[in-house]
Amino acid sequence: MISYLDKLGEVFGFQSFRPNQELIIRNILDRRDVFAVMPTGGGKSLCYQLPATVMEGTAIVISPLISLMKDQVDAARENGISAAFLNSSLAPDEMSEVHRRLRVGALSLLYVAPERFVMPAFLESLKSIPISLFAIDEAHCISEWGHDFRPDYLGLSVIPESFPGVPVAAFTATATQKVQEDIIRKIGLRDPHIVRASFNRPNLFYQVKKKSRLESQILEFLKGRTGESGIIYRTTRDSVMETSDFLSSNGIKALPYHAGLGPDERRRNQEAFIKDRVTIIVATIAFGMGIDKSDVRFIIHADLPKNTENYYQETGRAGRDGEPAHCLLLFSRGDIPKVRYFIDEIEDEAERAVALEKMYQMIGYASHNVCRRKQLLGFFGEVYARENCGACDVCTDKVERIDVTTDAQILMSAMARTHQRFGAGHVIDVVTGAETKRMRELQHDRIKTYGAGKHRDKKYWRFLADELLAQDLIREDGDRYPVLKLTQRGSSVLFNGDRVTALKREEIKVKDRHVEGSALGPYDEGLFERLRVLRKGIAEQHKVPPYIIFSDKTLHEMCRHYPVTRAAMKAISGVGDFKLELYGETFAAEIGAYLQDHPR
Ligand code: ADP
Ligand code: MG
Ligand code: ZN
Repeated sequence: MISYLDKLGEVFGFQSFRPNQELIIRNILDRRDVFAVMPTGGGKSLCYQLPATVMEGTAIVISPLISLMKDQVDAARENGISAAFLNSSLAPDEMSEVHRRLRVGALSLLYVAPERFVMPAFLESLKSIPISLFAIDEAHCISEWGHDFRPDYLGLSVIPESFPGVPVAAFTATATQKVQEDIIRKIGLRDPHIVRASFNRPNLFYQVKKKSRLESQILEFLKGRTGESGIIYRTTRDSVMETSDFLSSNGIKALPYHAGLGPDERRRNQEAFIKDRVTIIVATIAFGMGIDKSDVRFIIHADLPKNTENYYQETGRAGRDGEPAHCLLLFSRGDIPKVRYFIDEIEDEAERAVALEKMYQMIGYASHNVCRRKQLLGFFGEVYARENCGACDVCTDKVERIDVTTDAQILMSAMARTHQRFGAGHVIDVVTGAETKRMRELQHDRIKTYGAGKHRDKKYWRFLADELLAQDLIREDGDRYPVLKLTQRGSSVLFNGDRVTALKREEIKVKDRHVEGSALGPYDEGLFERLRVLRKGIAEQHKVPPYIIFSDKTLHEMCRHYPVTRAAMKAISGVGDFKLELYGETFAAEIGAYLQDHPR
């Protein structure tokens, strides 16, 4: 047998393997399934391309990125590997030529798009030829829990049963533990060899700054970075255009990229960036898939990302070449309602809850006085053991801190005096001196810290509890009814007076305060429940999903303004003329009836 070690130099021209590559390759050669999470730039392609050159038969690579397939095949051909791809960009005659080469065994490597792979005729054709291995790239696409679910990927579950004896190797750059388990189960990998490479990207510097005057902050950042390539992410098309125009008018070569631009313009702008004709691309998250530009030196997030997975993936586009690169997040609590708005539109309740939790995780990342790298890696289930990463704003003291030792001690003391047997809600009630029956029954209104934190509101204490959790000074114990416990380090704060600091928080202006939490403020929840029932009934009659009748956002607005007249109903966002005719009266009547029962 030809040694795979020889192939590394012969075919690829490399001296040594990168971490995990060799073990993965040996497992594939032993015909064992593999599941590997390796960061961007970690060298995943080699893990299946090398076995493809050693083993008999054709290696089938399933990859969702048509734009990258051609590059990969070109690169493989450059290395003398007989490779081809099948996707919708091929003309019919090119397509049949690839099929012919596949049939006669002339291909070592075949890339195929998932929607093509699952076509019964294609699967059938594979059964009559020798297959060396299956490689599934971007395997997270099979999981609804991932950030890029593609229904076509579900069809890949036929592979293990249809091709017993052929190893299946799944690769991805992003998968939480939960997504990992989901992927393995959905594909049906058979006792796979699992690799979780470290996600740490030591050359990336992470920083969060308070967003205040965005445009001058961006200009400030760009000073001294002339000629460096960077991506500025914004949430909406309009803001992309604004920032891009602003930069251009300041003599900085920038172009916009978002889904609202025509395909030609998008391609041109992307190309201009890749070919360094402009240094900056201002983009929505539509930009980035299929970009292999290795010298991106900075990523600015000018708006709050939806979740940490997205954030990590987007920042991951910086510094693929291993050189230092900077990731700046400009964070304002004022952005929270905008993200909330998108989340509120999610129809499925469970899905909405997950999205919300992820948003809070992202806010925590920006707010906690904890190494950014440690937090990011923690989200992916990785423990970053070092105390100081040396490459984030928290570790390099580029942040403003405030001392919260006294308040931390109040909270912890309340925990200790209630024997660490209560959850955050109750402890906060103790601290703020809530006058409830439960408090009296437990006689917690008699302990020394009862009401000791009256000077701050519940929200503040909630924030502090989160901060102490993030800093590992307290921890939550128990699943169903989690209680707060002191950690060793927390005890030192309570008993030895160790200092606790938090990041200085953005002062929320009073006039902004009401917009926090929900997109536009509180609404009448009792009425909302009634309108929801009404909506559901209508939706069932019309055989459409409820949100097609009215979105949650529209109902929320009704529950703020109580429209009972036609004019008032028409003024509600989401009530167009057509819907006004169809449903206006019914909803107005329901609101009227509700007001009868609950006079305001
Ligand atoms: P991924 O798919 O994991 O993001 P790639 O497979 O595209 O990463 O590899 C990233 C870069 O690293 C490519 O340019 C590749 O040629 C290079 N590379 C991969 N393995 C090695 C190795 N063992 N030695 C040197 N360079 C490598
Ligand atoms: Mg890759
Ligand atoms: Zn750090």
